[in-house]
Amino acid sequence: MTTDQQSETSTTALQVACDTAVSGCVFRMRTEEDDKDRLLEIARDHVNEQHGKEVTLEEIDEQHVETVEV
Ligand SMILES: [Zn+2]
Repeated sequence: MTTDQQSETSTTALQVACDTAVSGCVFRMRTEEDDKDRLLEIARDHVNEQHGKEVTLEEIDEQHVETVEV
């Protein structure tokens, strides 16, 4: 019943969370690692539209994205 060899399936996901605690923003999103580009773009658009701040995809990637176990 133990199937140790099945650990090849990805068990991690990417999560992005908006860090603007000041404004009480609770924006958070999780996607599969394959979807990273889309995740970064959505987060960037969110920060731009909701907080009026210009951020690059790189900044989002470095500061807001974390890998989580699922
Ligand atoms: Zn936000």
